[in-house]
Amino acid sequence: QSREPDDYQERPAKRHAGDVDMVIEHYNLRPEVGVKQRKESPIIGLKSFNNWVKSVLITQFGHPALAAAANKRGKVLDMGCGKGGDLIKWGKARIREMLAVDIAHVSIEQARQRWETMRPRRFDATFAALDCYTEPLTKVFSPQQLAEPFDVVSMQFCMHYAFETAQKARCMLKNVSEWLRPGGIFLGTVPNADQLLARLDQLPPDSEDLSFGNSVYKIRFEERTSRPLFGHRYYFYLRDAVENVPEYIVEWDNFVQMAAQYGLYPVFKKEFHEVFEDYREHEDFKQLMVRMNVCDATGASSMEDEEWEAVNIYIAFAFEKR
Ligand code: SAM
Repeated sequence: QSREPDDYQERPAKRHAGDVDMVIEHYNLRPEVGVKQRKESPIIGLKSFNNWVKSVLITQFGHPALAAAANKRGKVLDMGCGKGGDLIKWGKARIREMLAVDIAHVSIEQARQRWETMRPRRFDATFAALDCYTEPLTKVFSPQQLAEPFDVVSMQFCMHYAFETAQKARCMLKNVSEWLRPGGIFLGTVPNADQLLARLDQLPPDSEDLSFGNSVYKIRFEERTSRPLFGHRYYFYLRDAVENVPEYIVEWDNFVQMAAQYGLYPVFKKEFHEVFEDYREHEDFKQLMVRMNVCDATGASSMEDEEWEAVNIYIAFAFEKR
């Protein structure tokens, strides 16, 4: 199903602007809540599980690349960092420096504040508001800040917004690859296109409502048959987190093919439930699951069935720059 770059279907510019505004407004308006309120979220089990998967990914693929940095303390770029939910994970990775960007300036401020109040604050960090799917990192970072290449680039739960157009996906990949050293790692989490499209196909043929999900999450497509590689839009709702924000299907083979044009090659791809199966018995990650409240000491999950279904729409991935 591969296509030449010139065949890419682009959507009218006006529609893009509206979608991006919805994304920015949504994330800017989501309040930063304290630790106590976070723990009381109705989807705390799901959030903890997502954090555990990110920790596994960062430990398994980020740590070796960081350890191979010249002075064994590497440099990370977090694209779409949000409110800085991964700062502690990077602190544990003993990095030297982080640069972080997000399109939502309110989130960037909150991430900066979170980093400033971290004790101990183990690494230097610079935060900047940037639409990294349309603009280069050089817009917000100086040549000195970019002089030393990154060992790891992380994109957690945010890359799918770039697949609105081929141009945005290319800009995103250029930003990932341009300042990543050879042997460096690009890792992330993204919805699983195969699963979303399979669920769409399973809807009754005469159904006008093209949505599926449960009380925790809902996905609504706009049409059934047209499957463009870019701009294949659906609306996503996640209880207590995301309110019907437009997102785009990331067709894996297309992503891999494009990434190769930027020197990025896949080394890992797993659905979240596979990550759970593969790492639940691993001594370090098993203990981490208890510490992160993903399950209790007996191994019983803190998630309801509906939360399990919601987390399983995601995949985790890692690419190596060659
Ligand atoms: N990575 C964080 C995490 O794992 O907690 C935040 C994930 S949140 C679901 C998605 C983030 O992607 C939001 O903070 C949003 O503002 C950001 N985002 C969406 N489009 C973006 C763009 N064009 N450039 C930079 N960030 C973007």
